[in-house]
Amino acid sequence: MNVHESEKIAGMLSDIGYDAATSAEEADVIVFNTCCIRDTAEKRAYGNIGALKGLKKTNPEKIIAVVGCMTQQKGGAEALAAKFPFVDVILGTNSLDMLPILVQQKRAKTARIVVNEDPTVDVSVDLPIHRTSGTNAWINIMYGCNNFCTYCIVPYVRGRERSRAISEVLADVKQVLSEGYKEITLLGQNVDSYGSDLKDGTNFAALLKEISALPGKFRLRFMTSHPKDFNKEVVDVIASSRNICHNIHLPIQSGSNEILRRMNRKYTVEQYLDIVEYIKAKMPDVGITSDIMIGFPGETEEDFKATCDLVEKVRFSNAFTFVYSPRKGTPAAKMEQIPADVKKSRITRLVKLQNDVTKRLSDDYIGNVYEILIEDVNPKYPGTVCGRTDSGRLVTVNGDPSLIGEFCDVKITKSRSASLFGEIVTKENQ
Ligand code: SAH
Ligand code: SF4
Repeated sequence: MNVHESEKIAGMLSDIGYDAATSAEEADVIVFNTCCIRDTAEKRAYGNIGALKGLKKTNPEKIIAVVGCMTQQKGGAEALAAKFPFVDVILGTNSLDMLPILVQQKRAKTARIVVNEDPTVDVSVDLPIHRTSGTNAWINIMYGCNNFCTYCIVPYVRGRERSRAISEVLADVKQVLSEGYKEITLLGQNVDSYGSDLKDGTNFAALLKEISALPGKFRLRFMTSHPKDFNKEVVDVIASSRNICHNIHLPIQSGSNEILRRMNRKYTVEQYLDIVEYIKAKMPDVGITSDIMIGFPGETEEDFKATCDLVEKVRFSNAFTFVYSPRKGTPAAKMEQIPADVKKSRITRLVKLQNDVTKRLSDDYIGNVYEILIEDVNPKYPGTVCGRTDSGRLVTVNGDPSLIGEFCDVKITKSRSASLFGEIVTKENQ
């Protein structure tokens, strides 16, 4: 989501004549696109903004802007303005379209701080987009979130769920396909509830079906699904389509029903396992990924062990693991917190366990042939390019950048934890 917002920022600035710079020293305008989902992200943003004080002092004409959801928190913009008086422009996510105007005004030395605190206004839909994600195009299908998980700041800074009309989404998809993109990722905080606010009978399964039926060879991905809403109808659409990837990101957060209840997640471990079983039965080659959080207030050793059991049971192909971080204004921040050393020990154990699971799954790929969409060069290994399997696993092969954007059949020859390595067997159109 933030990468895509950065694309919109780049698009707007390029429309008023700016090109990408290679360093902060060289840049005329520096935009920080912040995130407040966890304390670490917020602290890093504070550190990075603070680090520019000297540069601004020696180059006062440089324009520094701070945007993103950190500015959208209650009092967040004011706190940033007070702490960093050298910052020229501070904008909320919903007033992002004012960035070019303010940058130009600042050039004329009349800049001011503007924050739109109303998170229900979407101005970003029609913003120019300077896409930076290579073969993949991100497309928002909805904004905001209604779920109020008790640890999460998103509903407070992004407002309630607003789905874009199916016609608008389809127009965007057709546009990026005509520009040559080979992969589309539909974005939303809870894509499975897409359409529930449109009141025209549209739902996520119908949207997937319409997009997947468009002509041409391309891949379709989406994120994020919420286990309470992800349903068998969507699984059936994916399983019977020719181009919706068998890669499902289904955040579980915890393997303990008591913790899930206090997180307000509205599903149980049993319901989660039920849908996972259905997915695996319909798509044996699926890659299921997840978000897992440890250290939620009151998490006991038993609760944590239940999470580890679930990781073993589901065998996620990969997982984003998070240490719970209290967010001001959310219910969980007021609950009794668990000690930092306990959190540290649990995250270390969880990461090790998930790495073991990922490594074991990686070994299952060896010797088989998979279709890969080549996305980029792999800078770690000169002379190679990389791309992903339909199930979402990264594969590195020998090849040159001319292959980027092509589908190739690749035989997997070795694995190194989450990374796979292989040889091209056939290229597209061969
Ligand atoms: N809408 C998505 C994800 C949104 S945020 C969903 O419901 O899954 C991405 C991930 O950040 C979450 O899945 C959660 O694991 C993590 N996260 C959110 N708030 C957090 C917090 N306060 N502390 C630690 N991790 C958090
Ligand atoms: Fe946050 Fe929960 Fe909404 Fe995801 S579903 S954005 S975790 S409140």
